Amino acid sequence: MIDIHCHLSTKTFNKNYNPLVNKIEEYKKHLKAIIDSATNFEDAKHSIQLSEKYKNFVFSSLGLHPIEAINYTEKEIDEYLEFIYQNRDKIVAIGEIGLDYYWIKESEKIKKSIEVFKRFIEISKDIKKPIILHARLAIEDVFKIIVNEDVKSAVFHFFDGKIKTAKEIIKENYFISINNQVYKNPAIQNVAKEIPLEFLVTETDSPWCGIGKEINEPTNIKICLEYISKLKNISLETVEKTIDENIIRLLNLNI
Ligand SMILES: [Zn+2]
Repeated sequence: MIDIHCHLSTKTFNKNYNPLVNKIEEYKKHLKAIIDSATNFEDAKHSIQLSEKYKNFVFSSLGLHPIEAINYTEKEIDEYLEFIYQNRDKIVAIGEIGLDYYWIKESEKIKKSIEVFKRFIEISKDIKKPIILHARLAIEDVFKIIVNEDVKSAVFHFFDGKIKTAKEIIKENYFISINNQVYKNPAIQNVAKEIPLEFLVTETDSPWCGIGKEINEPTNIKICLEYISKLKNISLETVEKTIDENIIRLLNLNI
């Protein structure tokens, strides 16, 4: 099993302490690969270090979360994009990037987040990497933008939108990521049931999105796989094998 979206590199969880980093060796016993998503420039440097230390197990996806993007200056964005370009051979995707209408409501800030989002889309095309999308309460707008920008390869992280939208998304050959919150979220359950396996990938978003009050961990990817298996009435082995193959192909993982 593979976790396509979590945050090993984050330093903003639990007062600069990220409990996941110390357990990577243990995760190796259960998972084939972990994709670490950096949400800002500082975490991006840490993410590259982790992917070098745990080669062919931890892979980096570098992005700028919309709620961070609105606080970045032009110069900081330029520097970060240059860093990504220089490290393009060490990363497997761009993201998470996108829009967030839950936290960002002012029109000026939304405008800025759209501009930054488009610059990251541009670099993903330059370096020919897929994008991992954050689209909280903004799925339709994010979808419109990536179609207009002619993005070829994308993953909707933590998709909890409507089935109708999910079907439009897969028509464009984009992927939908099922988070372990599937255990209690009916919208995610619906998507896991209705959308064909060949368009699904699995994620935890750990250390966030834990079960109850627990810290989330990449090993909880098992919950996603078990629910997909149950909801689709397809064997767990087939679900796991198909989703692993989807992720390996999509991100061109060397494992
Ligand atoms: Zn995330």
